[in-house]
Amino acid sequence: MKRSLDANVNSVHESLSKSKFSLNDFADLISPAANEFLEPLSRRSQQLTQQRFGKVIRLFAPLYLSNECINNCAYCGFSRDNAILRVTLSIEEVLREARALSEQGFRNILLVAGEHPKFVSNHYLRDCVRALHAEIPSVSLEVGPMETDEYRPIVAAGADGLVVYQETYDRNIYDEMHTAGPKKNFDWRLETAERAYASGFRRLGIGALFGLSDWRYEAICVAAHADFLLRHCWKAQVTISLPRLRPCAGEFQPLTHMTDRELVQLVCAFRLMFPDAGLVLSTREPARLRDGLIPLGITLISAGSHTEPGGYTGAGREKIHQTVRGKIVEAGSSEWATTNGHATNATGQFEIADDRSPGEVAELIRKLGYEPVWKDWDAALTT
Ligand code: SF4
Repeated sequence: MKRSLDANVNSVHESLSKSKFSLNDFADLISPAANEFLEPLSRRSQQLTQQRFGKVIRLFAPLYLSNECINNCAYCGFSRDNAILRVTLSIEEVLREARALSEQGFRNILLVAGEHPKFVSNHYLRDCVRALHAEIPSVSLEVGPMETDEYRPIVAAGADGLVVYQETYDRNIYDEMHTAGPKKNFDWRLETAERAYASGFRRLGIGALFGLSDWRYEAICVAAHADFLLRHCWKAQVTISLPRLRPCAGEFQPLTHMTDRELVQLVCAFRLMFPDAGLVLSTREPARLRDGLIPLGITLISAGSHTEPGGYTGAGREKIHQTVRGKIVEAGSSEWATTNGHATNATGQFEIADDRSPGEVAELIRKLGYEPVWKDWDAALTT
């Protein structure tokens, strides 16, 4: 971090001239001094991305299974103490959502759920994956961390990727943000990707939620974590996500700010540091910025996303309730039954900024001279 803040034009120049980058070089590339070098940085990142991945952008969609959660995370609408409308989809309802996504073209789905062993057990997740795997070639998960042995049946059922964001690598802020629940344990979360690898997952996704601690500090920690995983989990593909905090239930305001220009700088720096890593951009970012970032180093984007369970089809709408101390409480108010034009009134995790349809995003990708690919790259080679 100090290295990054102290970098000057000369040290950035020197780092940029290298063909392989160390963590110190990475710190230079994301420094305030390197902000002036955005043009050469993005040119190099673009060339490298095309060389390694071709002119291809892969698309995926999140499928929210449940918004039940036993944790309190200050920045998340699903926090257990938020009086939101909750639901957990049945396997049939999950299939209905997946088929709607499949009809839109998606063959790569990320199953997302809050952490609640009573509603979202590893057996439930295994059954979801098993049901989907027959129809969807690539299924990955973003769910509460588990033990290695709890992951194994999920892998055996056909899941290939696991995503777990550390949220913040700053232990003090982590402690302040996570006030209740098992997520309080920083180290348990940090070691999740290694447990996932040991259980057989072959795509590991990591990232920090930008807006909690200083973004350069977080970025250097994400880079160090990715570097570690590439050395120790060498059979896996590592993907890095760059989410910035979005408004959510609970009205948490970001504690730190990262400008659009700094986000561009960071995408390029990650690409130079990790030429083969997947770089992921979600619908948290507005359309114009996403369009600009696509040619610069991003390889995987979501489109048409809903962050509420049942958001694509209205599945589970009639079971919506509140959860108080782990017990279901009927919603009871007729206004909660209205959906205001949405498929369901279950509460979403956060507001999305790019609300274009998957078809519109695919068209835009084509206009930029890239091929939109709906299937995961690795899965495409094995199915
Ligand atoms: S961030 Fe995850 S663990 Fe925290 S409240 Fe939201 S869903 Fe639960």
